[in-house]
Amino acid sequence: MAYAQLKEELIQFSKEIGIDKIGFASVDTFSTLKSRLEEQQALGYASGFEKGSNEERTEPKRLLPQAESIIAIALAYPTRIKNDPKSVKGDRRGMFCRASWGTDYHLVLQEKLDQLADFLQEKIGDFQYSSMVDTGELSDRAVAERAGIGFSGKNTLIISPEYGSYMYLGEMITNIPFEADQPLQEGCGTCTKCLDACPTGALVEAGRLNAQQCLAYLTQTKGFLPDEHRDKLGNFIYGYETCQVVCPYNKGVDFHHHEQFEPDPDLVKPRLVDLLSISNKEFKSKFGKMAGSWRGKKPLQRNAIIALGHYKEVAALDVLIELMQQDPRPVIRGTAAWSIGKIGEKRGFQAIRDAKIQETNEEVINEMNKGLEMEKEFL
Ligand code: SF4
Repeated sequence: MAYAQLKEELIQFSKEIGIDKIGFASVDTFSTLKSRLEEQQALGYASGFEKGSNEERTEPKRLLPQAESIIAIALAYPTRIKNDPKSVKGDRRGMFCRASWGTDYHLVLQEKLDQLADFLQEKIGDFQYSSMVDTGELSDRAVAERAGIGFSGKNTLIISPEYGSYMYLGEMITNIPFEADQPLQEGCGTCTKCLDACPTGALVEAGRLNAQQCLAYLTQTKGFLPDEHRDKLGNFIYGYETCQVVCPYNKGVDFHHHEQFEPDPDLVKPRLVDLLSISNKEFKSKFGKMAGSWRGKKPLQRNAIIALGHYKEVAALDVLIELMQQDPRPVIRGTAAWSIGKIGEKRGFQAIRDAKIQETNEEVINEMNKGLEMEKEFL
């Protein structure tokens, strides 16, 4: 079998099925990544969402012993919403980051990888592979960088000259000895916009992220959000993307190549108050197909409550008081108390005082005290 010809045929097929970029990488150990992962873990900078051991994450042959090459793919996603609903006083809306718009990209990219696998299966008798998108052991970014999809920016994201960093990545380890492509040379140069713009200092240096400080990560946690980050989220309820928005490579980038990634304005910018009373069933049917629903509704509701406090949304006060009094989840009761304090209405402070008499959870009481502390600002 002439693998060079098969590679050309596969590239052609990938275009026909709507893959925006495809590249090929060797299965050599990702040695630099391995030491980087060890450093990140020692520094406490890892998110904890990662899968597999450092060996599995950096040695492709551990995942597929017959591995000979890795195919990397990228799909561009849109950055602008048509008929963008405004978030205004009395009708505040939250925001899902762009990487959660449309149908969950894990499903869409996995389908594309399956199509590539079917194509190769037909051509090769003994075809073996293992494919993954984001949640697999391999680092999508390390593979994409090696395969020439883009270069690794100081914001730790893969940036391509055509699509910027607004791309979803996936890969397939195969037993076919495809010739590897060359990594891209382009780079950030002297630019430091993402490092300067990061509101929490999570980009501790060029190309190094402390995930524990990253707002995108923090929107996905289930406990109380650290106090010092609450005012920085604005109306983001899932993800955060300032380090992408400020990047010159993303200027004017807005690709609508894939119907599945088109944002439904009412889903990606939902009314914050409506989100607070949504049932599990309704949440699943409305938001279940979005990547941003993977942690369930609680983190999104917690973030929505923070956003309402941030905007001092008086119209949401009754809903927040009810949550503080009745919600069975301490994170929701406590965050609601904090948010009521931020809004700063007299009756809100009185409601906190009344609810505090009944409250038994120490963490919630702590949040109520923070809410009551804010009363001083309004006296
Ligand atoms: Fe690189 Fe500048 Fe983009 Fe950061 S903002 S990734 S430094 S080009």
